[in-house]
Amino acid sequence: KKRTVDNLRSPVVCVLGHVDTGKTKILDKLRRTHVQDGEAGGITQQIGATNVPIDAIKEAAKFVKGFTELAVRVPGLLLIDTPGHESFSNLRSRGSSVCDIAILVVDIMHGLEPQTLESIKLLKAKNTPFIVALNKIDRIYDWQPNAKRDVRDDVKGQSKLAMNEYTKRTNDVIVQFAEQGLNVALFYKNPDPNEYMSMVPTSAATGEGMGNLMALIVEYSQSMLTKRLMYSNELQATVLEVKAIPGLGTTIDVILINGALREGDTLILAGTEGPIVTQIRSLLTPQPMKELRVKNTYIEYKEIKGSIGVKIAAKDLEKAIAGLNVSVACQPDEVEFCRSEVAHELKSALSSIRLQERGVFVQASTLGSLEALLEFLRTSSIPYSGIRIGPVVKRDVMKASVMLEHDSQYAVILAFDVKIERDAQELADHLGVKIFHADIIYHLFDQFMAYRDELKA
Ligand code: GDP
Ligand code: MG
Repeated sequence: KKRTVDNLRSPVVCVLGHVDTGKTKILDKLRRTHVQDGEAGGITQQIGATNVPIDAIKEAAKFVKGFTELAVRVPGLLLIDTPGHESFSNLRSRGSSVCDIAILVVDIMHGLEPQTLESIKLLKAKNTPFIVALNKIDRIYDWQPNAKRDVRDDVKGQSKLAMNEYTKRTNDVIVQFAEQGLNVALFYKNPDPNEYMSMVPTSAATGEGMGNLMALIVEYSQSMLTKRLMYSNELQATVLEVKAIPGLGTTIDVILINGALREGDTLILAGTEGPIVTQIRSLLTPQPMKELRVKNTYIEYKEIKGSIGVKIAAKDLEKAIAGLNVSVACQPDEVEFCRSEVAHELKSALSSIRLQERGVFVQASTLGSLEALLEFLRTSSIPYSGIRIGPVVKRDVMKASVMLEHDSQYAVILAFDVKIERDAQELADHLGVKIFHADIIYHLFDQFMAYRDELKA
């Protein structure tokens, strides 16, 4: 079937910005759940996807003037919650590559912050359009929130005092963007959406501006991204997460952008021990408006079309690697070709990572988290001599033990969000290799620094 304007897929929307600007809270507000409270260390560690159906958007945008008259052609929005910490920049850039449009969240009380600049760099590099959510307007002195109206009227209804501060802070942010070579304007003053990115005042706490934000994303997507959003039958799907689920075994959370997946399809994807070939046992999505990461009951499908976040249950997914594309072999003779394609993609991703002769050994559960950790180690001037995606096994300890002869402070394995096999730990204890284990990058770093100081003392 030909690609047409009458058959659009949901835009994939990434939420970027400095830590604590309210990225998770904005998503929470939209899906009315409370993922933020349950996150490890308050930081979003993994990418999650939320499908927001068009009816939910219409409900959120019901006070937005002009939106109800607009012909809505996208079936919904697929929101990606990317991790907020600066060391996750690689995951974010991976996010941006599947990302059609981004929400760049800026705290109106803080203006542009270091990670905002980093996000801007990524968006520019990937040529990703974005809308600025100028968040936390409720914190302006004397602000009287009214979420049950169009945010333009909400702003107009403020006291002179609140209005002055709002205007001043908004103008400061516009100047800061200009310093980054970017034209932004309040959406209701935007002279030309081709030249100026729009900025929406929001409060994830009160809900102000959330409808306008949704409406703008839909409007922008339909007018500027039509071509990109025309649904294609050619499979385009990326693994976001590999997760063990009670009753289902190890599953993969996939973002399916284009094409369809069917129960029984032969799936080929990258694994720590080489490409995995397996049959799709079930295709699952959470109930609408819930995030894939949150435990709940699933809806099962015989066939599912992009764009959507989907959980796949199948055999042999234990060693799957997140962050790469999946293929489907339609004919048995395509399997070999898909295997080599998948192997090549992983090889080129890993070979671009430069290793030092002396340094720690690094292991992580996903390509994205591995890259994020390496980025962090680089900025902290900690060298690494070996990398692997997957749990710590004896072979890894043997490799790390080589450093005992060269530079014993680096006879260390930094294990990020991966299991350590019992016999591997025993071998490490025996040989004198230290294994540090954590699921927050900071903690891993702190453990290693404390250990190094201890060695020096
Ligand atoms: P993230 O790191 O960007 O994901 O930020 P969070 O969503 O975790 O929010 C950081 C903190 O700011 C939390 O305590 C939120 O409750 C708070 N917060 C987020 N948005 C708003 C807002 O619009 N107004 C106010 N007053 N607080 C907010
Ligand atoms: Mg967050």
